[in-house]
This record gives sequence, C-alpha cells and structure tokens, in this order.
Amino acid sequence: MKIDVLTLFPEMFEPLKTSILKRATDNGKLDINIIDIREFSKDKHKKCDDYTFGGGPGMLMMPQPIYDAMTSIEGYQSALKLYMSPKGETFSQKKSKFIAMNYDHIIILCGHYEGVDQRIIDLLIDEEVSIGDYVLTGGEIPAMVVVDA
Ligand code: SAM
Repeated sequence: MKIDVLTLFPEMFEPLKTSILKRATDNGKLDINIIDIREFSKDKHKKCDDYTFGGGPGMLMMPQPIYDAMTSIEGYQSALKLYMSPKGETFSQKKSKFIAMNYDHIIILCGHYEGVDQRIIDLLIDEEVSIGDYVLTGGEIPAMVVVDA
C-alpha cells in the first residue's frame, strides 16, 4: 500500500520509521511518503496560512500550496483522499479494514490552525476522518493513527 501524507510539520512523522511499520516499509509492503506542503508555497516567505474569507477568528491553511502538493502526487485522482478533521466520521477498526481491503493508495491531508480552506475539501477530499470527539492542534497525530491502523 502507498500512503502519502501532506503536512506542514514533516518532522512529526519520525515514529513511523520504527517497529512494525519500519519492517513493512523495508519489506516493500508499505510505501510512506511525507510531503511538506510548505515546499509548494508560491509565497516568497513560504507562507501557508491566511485569514478566513469574510473574516472570522483564527487562520486557515491557504488552498494554493495544498492544491499543488496534492496534484503533484502521481495517481492522486484514483487514490482515497482523506482529510483528518474533528468534524469527520469517527475512525474505527471496521473503517481501517475497509480501506486496507479496497485501496492500494491513500493520501492523508493534515490540517493545522483553524483547518483548511473549504474549497480544498470540496475539490479534492473524499472523506473527512476524526480519531475521536476532541480537538487537537493538528492532523499529524490523527494521520499517524490511521497509517498505523
Ligand atoms: N476549528 C477547527 C475545526 O472545527 O475543524 C479545528 C481545527 S484543529 C485546531 C486543527 C487541525 O487538527 C484540524 O484541521 C484537523 O486536521 C486536526 N484535528 C484536530 N482534532 C482532530 C480529531 N479529533 N481528529 C482528526 N483530526 C483532528
């Protein structure tokens, strides 16, 4: 299975390089790519956050770097594209098994700040997935839960 993770904090994914996941990667059963969204920013300071359209509290992840990062992935159209979100369907063993049995390529988008611009969800995301009824600061730990499961 190929898993691409889009994040602003690639350094958080070190735990995926240990234990059983490391063995699966070394054996070629799993191919995990951590993609730094910031590298796709067209801003000269590599800025990736922006004010909410229409004005609201907090900042959102701006759409351009996410769009370019996602569409740079070969085969992204047919991959299952998940956005980690406290508003999503709660992840479960049943869901994990369903994904493993039905997809050989998944892409996981990790949010930060107040989340991502809604246009990204409407345009690119198949499903929003929550790991529980609480709000974390970012989607990186939730994404690691899904990858591990
Ligand atoms: N106000 C935002 C909302 O209601 O979606 C909260 C954003 S939260 C501070 C920042 C990011 O953390 C989210 O975009 C999401 O990617 C991730 N996140 C937070 N809690 C999560 C949860 N329970 N499950 C999955 N992802 C979560």
